Amino acid sequence: MTACPFCKIIRGDSPASIVYSDEWVTAFRDAHPVATTHILIVPNLHIPSVNDLKPEDEPLVGHMFSVAKQLAEKEKIHADGYRLIVNTGAHGGQTVPHVHLHLIGGGRLRFPIG
Ligand code: AMP
Ligand code: ZN
Repeated sequence: MTACPFCKIIRGDSPASIVYSDEWVTAFRDAHPVATTHILIVPNLHIPSVNDLKPEDEPLVGHMFSVAKQLAEKEKIHADGYRLIVNTGAHGGQTVPHVHLHLIGGGRLRFPIG
């Protein structure tokens, strides 16, 4: 999808601070971080939202969590803890229509949100 900002980053057509990539996902720092660590883990294929996931995407979703865990270790936030968020649709606060997992940490986070 040409207009999708995350597809542009994955294709190399838009700049981003990429911290990890493999055949399934690309991870880059959020342009507007809400904490010291704020990384987005994004499937390389354009999937608009969780609503569009299919049963065959389950390994991909599991992989996104594995990558998040590895990046939390790399960022040295795994011991103290962190938050993983997937916003979905307008009421969920999703602003970019390409599935992404937020990895947020580096300090105590407020809860509940919303
Ligand atoms: P969401 O509201 O869950 O859809 O999250 C979208 C996130 O993408 C927000 O936290 C934005 O700050 C971030 N974002 C939007 N465009 C870019 C970009 N070009 N590079 C990095 N992060 C972005
Ligand atoms: Zn996309």
